[in-house]
Amino acid sequence: MFNMEEHHPGVPEEVWSVVRVTIDRPGCTSCESCWTLCPDVFEEDPNDGLSSITEQYRVDGNPAEGEVPDDLADCVLEAADACPVAVIIVEE
Ligand code: SF4
Repeated sequence: MFNMEEHHPGVPEEVWSVVRVTIDRPGCTSCESCWTLCPDVFEEDPNDGLSSITEQYRVDGNPAEGEVPDDLADCVLEAADACPVAVIIVEE
């Protein structure tokens, strides 16, 4: 189980086996693709209807920025590919 408490800024990313994902939320058109394809990582924000990182994977509580374990990389990449406005950025 991925544990955000273990994250230490400054430790090289490759040690972590995490995937960084960013959503340029103002550009989101709420098409529903990402949270349909990868609901573990993406969800609809009930306040503004835009895509957000699910709470468990947020960095510093930021709904636009997340770190997810490697085993979710495929679904994150699938969601990024499906995004019609390409606002999901994935860094492996
Ligand atoms: S796939 Fe892109 S446009 Fe569609 S809800 Fe997700 S972030 Fe928004």
